[in-house]
Amino acid sequence: MLDLIEKSIREIPDFPKPGIVFKDITPLLSDARLMKLTLEYLLKGVPDVKIDKVVGIESRGFFFATLLAEHLNAGFIPIRKPGKLPYKVHSEEYELEYGTDELNMHIDAIIPGENVLIHDDVLATGGTALAAAKLVEKSGGKVVQLNFLIELAFLNGREKIKNYDVFSLLKY
Ligand code: AMP
Repeated sequence: MLDLIEKSIREIPDFPKPGIVFKDITPLLSDARLMKLTLEYLLKGVPDVKIDKVVGIESRGFFFATLLAEHLNAGFIPIRKPGKLPYKVHSEEYELEYGTDELNMHIDAIIPGENVLIHDDVLATGGTALAAAKLVEKSGGKVVQLNFLIELAFLNGREKIKNYDVFSLLKY
């Protein structure tokens, strides 16, 4: 069944930049049966503790993060690029191949002490996930797991987030 999910992910060479093979999950999302199956597999990887909030990383992390939140009886929190969230934010800068980027989260999104699951579609170099984990910790949240649909293992992103529990459904 896992191979059905894997087969549905479309690889787009040189998008958005030359040299990057983009993992396009839209064919998976457009198939109701595969979406359900993917959600079931992701849920199996979640540690057996009470999750208070599921954080989704803009924008492709939102799809399964909201579904996970609903199934875990948890709230959903968006982490977004600068200038998108309307209220006061915590922000965290992180390194890109060239330059830096920034992620924001509302300051009141997480109550200190809450157990938080962070989800994104792809783990590449790990910079995005690490910044998201730091944002959660700035609010006093406990990161229970960094959860991904796809891990690009050859980029060794796990090294950057080795202090956290990491789960990924598909590894390349
Ligand atoms: P990184 O910070 O390098 O781990 O990059 C992870 C973020 O970039 C995630 O939010 C992904 O959605 C996106 N990303 C990185 N590489 C890819 C890829 N090959 N295909 C699709 N999305 C990617």
